[in-house]
Amino acid sequence: DPIVGERLVVEGIAKAFGGNQALDGASLTAEPGQVTALIGPNGSGKTTMLNMICGFYKPDSGRILVGDNEVQGQSPDRVARVGVARTFQTPNIPEHVTVLEAVASGRYSTDRVSMFATVLRLPRYRRVRAADLAEAERALEMVGMSHLRDETATALPLGMRRLLEVARSVVAGPRVLLLDEVASGLDEDEVERLADLIRDLRDAGATVVLVEHNFRLVLELANRIVVLAQGAVIADGSPAEIEQNPRVLSEYLGV
Ligand code: ADP
Repeated sequence: DPIVGERLVVEGIAKAFGGNQALDGASLTAEPGQVTALIGPNGSGKTTMLNMICGFYKPDSGRILVGDNEVQGQSPDRVARVGVARTFQTPNIPEHVTVLEAVASGRYSTDRVSMFATVLRLPRYRRVRAADLAEAERALEMVGMSHLRDETATALPLGMRRLLEVARSVVAGPRVLLLDEVASGLDEDEVERLADLIRDLRDAGATVVLVEHNFRLVLELANRIVVLAQGAVIADGSPAEIEQNPRVLSEYLGV
C-alpha cells in the first residue's frame, strides 16, 4: 500500500541539559520517499534530535514541522497523531504477548492516549481486529519472521526484537518514521532484511530518518546524509558528497 509521507523540517533546534549544549541550532529536512541518515560521533546529539522530533523533549528554541503542522513543544501523543513513529535503541516491546500481538499493537498507537495506555489497553488476541492481524502478518513477512508469530515477543534474541520493533512501527502507517540504531546487534542476514524493509518503506513513499552507526548501511540506503558534531550540523548532502567531505573524513570517520 502507498504510504503518504510528510516532509519533516527541523529549523535551528537548540537544547541544553544544564550547562551541556546537546543541540546548538541544528537544522535538517527529510523528504517523503527518501531515507535521510543522521550520523555523527557519540554525544553529538543524534538521539536528542529524535527525542525532540517525537515530542519527548521540548526545544529551547527552533521549529519542527511535519507537513504543515508545527509540532515543537507538543506532547508525544500529539506528535504521534500527526503520523510520527519511532523505534528505540532498547526495543520497547509489551510483555506477555506473542510476536504477532506485539506487532499488531502498533496499530493502536496512532489513536493512542499514551504509550503506557497503549500497552495497558492492548486487546487480547481474539479481540484484535482481523484487519490489524492481517497487517501485522504482512509486516512480519516483510521482516522474515512469520514462523515466529506465536512465540513470546520479549523472549526473542535482540536482533529479532529489533526487527519486531520496526515491524511494529510500520503497521502504524507512519508518515515519518524515525529509526534509532536499528541495525546494532543484528547479524549480516538480519541487516539485509532490515535494509530491504527500509527500502520498501522508502519506495512506498515514507519519510525515513535513520540514525545509524553502520556507515556502509548508511551509504547503501541514504538519499541524503546529515552529519552532526557537538550539536551542530557540519555537513549535509548526498552520500557521494559526504564521502568526499574532508571535515567528515577527519572528524567523523577519523581518517
Ligand atoms: P548521540 O545520540 O549522538 O550519541 P545524545 O543526543 O545522546 O548524542 O547526547 C548529546 C549530549 O546531550 C550528550 O552530551 C549527552 O550527555 C547529553 N544528553 C542527552 N540526553 C540527556 C538528558 N536527558 N539529560 C542530560 N544530558 C543529556
